[in-house]
Amino acid sequence: MTQFSRAIAKNRPLDDKHLFKKRAGAAAKYYQLQFDDSLQNDLQALHEMYKRGEPFRIYGAHTNLYICDNGYGGLFVDISPKHSKIDEAFAAPANATVSELVNKGAAAGYDFSALAGIPGMIGSGVAGNSGYSPSGKAFGDFVAGITAYDFETGRAMEFAPDENFFAARDSFIKRANSERFRYFITEVKFKADFIGPVAAREKVAAQMAKRKTHLATAFEEGSAGSLWNNEKLRRETGNSFAIMLRENGALNADFNGATYSANGANFFITTAATTDNDVAKLFAHSISKAHELYGAELEKEIATLDTDGEIDLATFITRNS
Ligand SMILES: Cc1cc2nc3c(=O)[nH]c(=O)nc-3n(C[C@H](O)[C@H](O)[C@H](O)COP(=O)(O)OP(=O)(O)OC[C@H]3O[C@@H](n4cnc5c(N)ncnc54)[C@H](O)[C@@H]3O)c2cc1C
Repeated sequence: MTQFSRAIAKNRPLDDKHLFKKRAGAAAKYYQLQFDDSLQNDLQALHEMYKRGEPFRIYGAHTNLYICDNGYGGLFVDISPKHSKIDEAFAAPANATVSELVNKGAAAGYDFSALAGIPGMIGSGVAGNSGYSPSGKAFGDFVAGITAYDFETGRAMEFAPDENFFAARDSFIKRANSERFRYFITEVKFKADFIGPVAAREKVAAQMAKRKTHLATAFEEGSAGSLWNNEKLRRETGNSFAIMLRENGALNADFNGATYSANGANFFITTAATTDNDVAKLFAHSISKAHELYGAELEKEIATLDTDGEIDLATFITRNS
C-alpha cells in the first residue's frame, strides 16, 4: 500500500477552510497535496483509496465551498498554491491562481480579461466552468486541453474538450466527480486572442475597476460570490440574482444571520451562530420566492460538503428541515 508523502492530520477543524460560513465541522482526516516531486506518489495513494472505496474530496482555494455543521467524514484534501508556474505557451498547473493566468496573459498581450476578478485556482475554474456573467465568457472559452489524473485507472488522461464538455458553470469533470472524486485536473493548456500587451492590460484594468469594490466587500464580509447559478438565471430571466434582490426585497430574509448582504453585490452571508437549519430556511425561501416572482428555478452553484460527500440542494434542504 502506497503511503502519503507527509502525515495525515486527524479530526482537523475546517472553519478556516471557509469563506462564507463562519462555523464548520471538522474533517475526519486532512491532507495537503503539493505540486512537487511528491505529487505522483500522493495521487497513487489516493488512487488506492479510491479502489478500496475510501472517501476523499479535493479542494483549491475554497471560495466556492459550503461545509456543513457536521464536517466531513472522509479525507479532506487541500491543494497547496506553491509551485504553480505557468509556462510561456500557457500550460498551467491546476494550482495556479486565476489572477496569475490573467496577469501573465496580459503581460504577453493575450486577452484573458473575461476571467479577471474570479477568485481561486484554475483547476477549480475549469471544473466549474467559472466565468464573469456580463462578459458572456467562461473558462471553457479559453481551454485548449486538460490533463487529469483518473483515480479509477491510476493513469493520466488528456481531454480535448468538445462542445458538450462545458455548460453553464458546469463541465464533464464536475458531473463525473459529483458522487465520487474521479478526475483530478493537474494541468490545463490555455488559448486566448492576441491583442497586444497595452490593450490586454487595459481590458483587465477595466474589468477589475468594475469588480474591485464588490470583491473587496465580499472578502471583508466573507460571502459567497456565486451561491446561485447566475449564468442560467440571466439566460432564463435576463437578471442576475443580485438584480432580483434589489428589485424585490421580498426575495431576501434573515434566518439567524443567514441572509443576503445589503452591501456590495448582495452576496450570501452567515454569522458564527448560523446553523445549517437556518441556511436551509433561507435557501427554501429564495427558491420559492424566485419561482413566485420571476418564474425562475434556482440552481445551486456552490459545492456543499456534508459528512458523506458533496450533496445537492434538495438533499441539503431535506436533511436540515
Ligand atoms: C467574492 C467572490 C467572487 C466570485 N466571483 C465569481 C465569478 O465572477 N465567477 C464565477 O464563476 N465564480 C465566482 N466565484 C466563485 C468561485 O470563486 C469560483 O467558483 C472558483 O472557480 C472556485 O475556485 P476555488 O479554487 O476556490 O475552488 P474550491 O471552492 O476549492 O472548489 C470548487 C470545486 O472545484 C473542485 N476542484 C478544485 N480543484 C480541482 C481540480 N484540480 N480538479 C477537479 N476538480 C477540482 C472542488 O472539488 C470543488 O468541487 C466567486 C466567489 C467569491 C467568494
